[in-house]
Amino acid sequence: MQIKLFNSLSRKTEDFLPLKDNTVRLYSCGPTVYNYAHIGNMRAFLFADLLQRVLRVVGEHKMKWIMNITDIDDKTIRDSAAGSEAWRKEMGEQSSEPIENLKKLTTFYLKEFIGDIASIGIKESDFFSLPRATDHIAEMQQLIKKILGNGFAYESGGAVYFDVQKWSKTDKYGKLQNIDFDNFRTGERIDADEYERESVSDFVLWKAKKEGEPYWDFDLNGENLPGRPGWHIECSSMEHEILGLPFDIHTGGVDLKFPHHEDEIAQSKAGYGIEPTSFWCHNEFLEVEGTKMSKSAGNFFTLRDLKNKGIDLNNVRFAMLSAHYRTKYNFTFAGIESAAKAKARIQDFIYDLIDTNYGSVKFDADDLRQKVFSHFANDLHTPKALAEIFTFINNNDALDFDKDSTEGLIAFFREVDAIFDVWEFEPRPEEKDDIPAEIKEMAQSRFDAKRAKDFAKADELRDKILAAGWQ
Ligand code: AMP
Ligand code: ZN
Repeated sequence: MQIKLFNSLSRKTEDFLPLKDNTVRLYSCGPTVYNYAHIGNMRAFLFADLLQRVLRVVGEHKMKWIMNITDIDDKTIRDSAAGSEAWRKEMGEQSSEPIENLKKLTTFYLKEFIGDIASIGIKESDFFSLPRATDHIAEMQQLIKKILGNGFAYESGGAVYFDVQKWSKTDKYGKLQNIDFDNFRTGERIDADEYERESVSDFVLWKAKKEGEPYWDFDLNGENLPGRPGWHIECSSMEHEILGLPFDIHTGGVDLKFPHHEDEIAQSKAGYGIEPTSFWCHNEFLEVEGTKMSKSAGNFFTLRDLKNKGIDLNNVRFAMLSAHYRTKYNFTFAGIESAAKAKARIQDFIYDLIDTNYGSVKFDADDLRQKVFSHFANDLHTPKALAEIFTFINNNDALDFDKDSTEGLIAFFREVDAIFDVWEFEPRPEEKDDIPAEIKEMAQSRFDAKRAKDFAKADELRDKILAAGWQ
């Protein structure tokens, strides 16, 4: 089926077709591995996962999906520094080599990240690769040399900066988001990896080495410029090296449009002479109880926080995928609960289909499939696809269908599940009681502790029960 996607570059919904070999080369901006990913990040990764599944299942395209791992930037350096608060217990001894500490911190959080995405239904095997920035420093240096050679960058104080003013006379700067050049301060330079819209100015491609920080040598016409790459150059060079330019689609959260993606476009074109892609897709933000998620507001959650609260991450996956990716998603515990119910309603229908008692009603699932798939194909409209499914199951009883119709419907639900990946296709589990006696005892003590308002004890018991693998 023809897939249509909203393109942030044209600001229109367009027909999408892969550039070559029916293979979609997809680049997703990945995590910065300095800490555990939060549920806002997860929305971005779930959106990319939804996109690649719809392209495969509904669009019938092959995929070459990569997601970069930022393992060198301001935050990874800050948190891997000696004496940093973020150097956690798990990390052990600090090394005297900053690069070793960086490697240790980022390798630890990368492993945690892969475990986290797996727990929310994103399969590592669906990626062509998850390239780490520090494995591609040579390619970054080459691109910087090209940009310098083409006259769109300059060296200053051992660092290299992109000359935005000069570039903007050659090509538009501000393709994804309009840029107000009135606020442009000539000669002003930004060293930070992340910066605000108000401060349009030259951005850093290569940062000069700072004492005690990790660095790489950079031979620039015989002169060594020890330092490390800026954040934006990481993506420009890795996508060029691994996917080749132009590739098919680039994804990320809306916050990355500027400066990150704008700078990516400028660098790639100024260096390689070509833009990374003509298709940019961005997911809207996740908010918690209607406000921005932040540590200070106390509404900041990682996946393990949710797990510790006894929440089934499958329900979180289904809840997030039930909302359209270009609308803000309001995370609430009530929302997760109602998503869990909706998911269970469909699961129940599937269990009834799998039940081998047949009726006599004939039903051809093709028409339903056509309708549901057309919603997926229409800019990944999961809410409409689900509404279509609910209309069907509310008006039908799975036990009424004859054998052929039932088999057709099971095949249909399996296809839908190739996208949502939250349902089971096995006979309904019997209600069984295989809970070990000591777990039951702990659960009873926890119940008693709660009734006695001894919450410390109740929490302690909850953790013990969880640690034993029960909820
Ligand atoms: P970072 O690790 O901060 O570079 O972010 C990784 C991805 O998560 C990027 O695509 C961000 O745009 C996205 N992201 C960060 N916060 C949120 C949020 N609250 N809601 C949705 N996406 C987010
Ligand atoms: Zn990126």
